[in-house]
Amino acid sequence: AAQSRVAAVTGANKGIGLAIVRQLALQYPKSPLKSGPFLIYLTARSEERGAEAVKTLESDQQLKDAKVLVKDGGDTTIKFYALDISQTKSIQDFSTFLKKEHPDGLDVVINNAGITFDNTLETLHTNYYGTLEATRDLLPLLREGGRMVNVSSMSGKLNKYSEEIRNAFLQAAQLDVPAVTALMEKFKSAVSEGKEKEAGFPSAAYAVSKAGETAFTKVIAMEEAKRNRGVLVNACCPGYVKTDMTRGGGAKTPDEGAQTPVMLALHDIGGKTGGFWQSEKEIEW
Ligand code: NDP
Repeated sequence: AAQSRVAAVTGANKGIGLAIVRQLALQYPKSPLKSGPFLIYLTARSEERGAEAVKTLESDQQLKDAKVLVKDGGDTTIKFYALDISQTKSIQDFSTFLKKEHPDGLDVVINNAGITFDNTLETLHTNYYGTLEATRDLLPLLREGGRMVNVSSMSGKLNKYSEEIRNAFLQAAQLDVPAVTALMEKFKSAVSEGKEKEAGFPSAAYAVSKAGETAFTKVIAMEEAKRNRGVLVNACCPGYVKTDMTRGGGAKTPDEGAQTPVMLALHDIGGKTGGFWQSEKEIEW
């Protein structure tokens, strides 16, 4: 039998994450990565919301019409797993489970979970530290040719920083993860003193957390490239998408927002790694 493929998506009970799972299922049949059956782990921090989301997809008309799910005659299965990226133990449980269940490895991991409108520490803890920990724990589980996609944001672009901080980000992204983390810590202490503007940062923790996410993704892509496993690691912005996060704003539907992450996960991207992408193109960070 052909080798089966395995993918995992974080924060997938709603919004862009849920649409990513739907689009993975819809686009897998036309993916150059296609090989045998496809198993997608829809993960969420809430057991209840995650299970509900799987049900939603099982009765999704688009998926039914495309006959992609096993119950409709296709070869894709969607399973729920509880994962809270703000909890070290939860990330470790998931990675232990995956190692046991899939000793030959995974093909795709999409780090999509994220928060905004919360306080500085919480926002950095989830978007930066949580995503970093999930990236570090799950990356070794990817097999040769695997893909890691981090859903960052255009709000993490470097045009709103002082020249000094912008250069510090650019250097850190070519150096190592501790250098990136040091910038997050610098922002935290500047905020605690009420001096983030003077220090050259924007005031929104969300923007800084996403600059950090893009930066560490570049570092980890560079480190991964040295292992010569053909694993591609990229960061992207989904665009401005109508979800709970944008509170009624947003120009794109969640399915439109899922296109760039899913392209980076399933399609031919010319072997590119360490890039920052938007609207299906590599753009300047
Ligand atoms: P939503 O608020 O609709 O969804 C966010 C998802 O992340 C939810 O499933 C949420 O779960 C989950 N989540 C939050 N914290 C955790 C955690 N600790 N562990 C696991 N899951 C968690 O937002 P979007 O769909 O809009 O955002 C998805 C990603 O896209 C985010 O990373 C966001 O920063 C990014 N993005 C979004 C843009 C937009 O315009 N919408 C623009 C640029 C980037 P729960 O339901 O339990 O809260």
